Amino acid sequence: MGTAGVESVGTPVSSPPDASAPPRRPALSPSRASDFKQCPLLYRFRVVDRLPEKPTKAQVRGTVVHAVLERLFGLPAAERVPDRAHALLEPAWREVRETRPELAELFARAEDVEAEVAEWLGSARGLLDAYFGLEDPRRLEPEACELLVETELDSGVLLRGYVDRLDVAPTGEIRVVDYKTGAAPREIGEAKALFQMKFYALVLWRTRGVVPRQLLLMYLADGQALAYRPEEGELRRFERTLEAIWGAILRAGRTGDFRPNPSRLCDWCDHKAFCPAFGGTPPEYPGWPDPGNAGTETVLDRAD
Ligand code: SF4
Repeated sequence: MGTAGVESVGTPVSSPPDASAPPRRPALSPSRASDFKQCPLLYRFRVVDRLPEKPTKAQVRGTVVHAVLERLFGLPAAERVPDRAHALLEPAWREVRETRPELAELFARAEDVEAEVAEWLGSARGLLDAYFGLEDPRRLEPEACELLVETELDSGVLLRGYVDRLDVAPTGEIRVVDYKTGAAPREIGEAKALFQMKFYALVLWRTRGVVPRQLLLMYLADGQALAYRPEEGELRRFERTLEAIWGAILRAGRTGDFRPNPSRLCDWCDHKAFCPAFGGTPPEYPGWPDPGNAGTETVLDRAD
């Protein structure tokens, strides 16, 4: 990848943070920006307190399906067929278990672990089949999958995120593709997904000088796709929105004043026990985290 600020990453399915790596500058990721917008206290619990969250089977299935789709595009075009994709599932799940053994715990309480894992992998096969119903990967030659994109805005705000897939036409037109595998109803996740896609569009525009022609969301749970064409003026306004969010995060970080903002999305929050909106008390504010910690995404975020 020759473009400044953009690098291709052929990462394993899931990699724990490298403790020996130098701290990276705090950056805003789409997931964490969206957390703050949704509920400042949720942002605090995730980024500042770093409260543990229990991954769900749907999240881990998303990680596995994303890994399979990434690998599928590593195969010669003619081999990108459903059977090959299905055959990639088991090795991808094995790799997840090897990298994060605690995820196997998800099935530990099942009466018949093997049968439950088989059923769960069957549901992942269903998502892959839905993918093949939406497009034929033999006809595509993406520029990159699981692409780390990063840019610094003129204001100094650093943006960082992972794009599931980037298609670039011979004419230079860019399409950003994101696979949605989550179990949450589409109408709940749609605003968040568009926020995430505009984030990527802005980073790509700033690093490549081209506004992406299309943002394509592929909802594999219901086999539907949503295409969106961003405009330059809209991305300029979005840039100001992100700067305002980052400013608000830094202000809250200094004072510790991260307020709860209850909504339907609380149903998916792991931290109700600490949330004043549900009668809980947050832990004592530990102060703003070290530079390397302020807002990174996890592989589970990328597989929503
Ligand atoms: S339960 Fe709701 S209001 Fe409370 S921290 Fe979670 S998302 Fe925010």
